[in-house]
Amino acid sequence: MYDLSDPRYARQLVLRGFGPAAQEQLANGRVLIIGAGGLGSPAATYLAAAGVGTITLVDTDVVDVTNLHRQLLYTTADVGRRKLEVARERLALINPHVVVHTHDTRLSAANAATLVAGHDVVIDATDNFPARYAINDACLAHGIPFVYGSVARFDGQVSVFAAPGGPCYRCLFPVMPEPGTVPTCAEEGVLGVVPGMIGLHQATETIKLLTGIGLPLVGHLLLVDLLAQDSHRIAVAKRHDCPTCGDVRPSSLPSMSIQHLNPADVAALLAGDDAPIIIDVREPWEYDLVHLPVSTLVPLNTLASKASDLDPSRSYALLCHHGMRSEMAANWMMQHGFSRLINIDGGIDAWSMDVDPALPRY
Ligand SMILES: [Zn+2]
Repeated sequence: MYDLSDPRYARQLVLRGFGPAAQEQLANGRVLIIGAGGLGSPAATYLAAAGVGTITLVDTDVVDVTNLHRQLLYTTADVGRRKLEVARERLALINPHVVVHTHDTRLSAANAATLVAGHDVVIDATDNFPARYAINDACLAHGIPFVYGSVARFDGQVSVFAAPGGPCYRCLFPVMPEPGTVPTCAEEGVLGVVPGMIGLHQATETIKLLTGIGLPLVGHLLLVDLLAQDSHRIAVAKRHDCPTCGDVRPSSLPSMSIQHLNPADVAALLAGDDAPIIIDVREPWEYDLVHLPVSTLVPLNTLASKASDLDPSRSYALLCHHGMRSEMAANWMMQHGFSRLINIDGGIDAWSMDVDPALPRY
């Protein structure tokens, strides 16, 4: 534990309505940041500088040159290095008193509960819907608030979900968007300052939650339009029929009906009486490189139109390259009447390593 009289916090210690009590709460704070990219980079930087005691980062990426216009935790010299490794070094330079933990893994419905446990606040700095829904459900289950942020082009959004008495992400968006219907930043672009601003809003909300100052964005969604330089808040109500936090819930939680199995377990199922049908949701060119002979190709962006050809009473195992797109597909199918769904964790890459080394990897 570090010295609260450390002059680095002098401007916060004299701050009326903050002071040593709030600084100590920051020092005791444990914050989980899912994603060390456009949002996670500014959030982690400012939270470390502010004196948050423990920061845990979750990411699997390496620094790419296309990251540098918005991820200022990294420099040109870091291209090709693991983000977690660079982030740990950089945060230690910013504030050596902060304990930084790192997890080189992708958050999914299978590991979200384990990752969020033991933290006071979770920051959703991801860029995909399966992770966001998994964070929501895990935070609700553990009673941990999470600070949501998302960006696109010149706009951003911020809110605090899963706080006691407040709405959750599914209260606002009960159903995950269909795969391919929401373009990614890679597809439609983002002005570099946008995630910077939204990430700092997330850091601010985190500080407010840890210290109890101000009014966190619980029950409100902040919408920021940087072209018009306009920001406004809209109220978000807790829904009584919310699938995860409502009083009147559907009989089963959607996220609980997807089984997460590794390739060896799925291979064993294929030998049994009730073998699942394997749906490969990768692109045709990937399927041409390597595929399982027993699989059927249904690229993710065609799933919505092809689903009517599939029998909802059958069991389906979803496959992709590493297990992310297949999870999106499984989530979509679950919300469209399919109940027996398996995500093949690790995808065909893991299948090649663990089950059939004859399959080429790419
Ligand atoms: Zn809810």
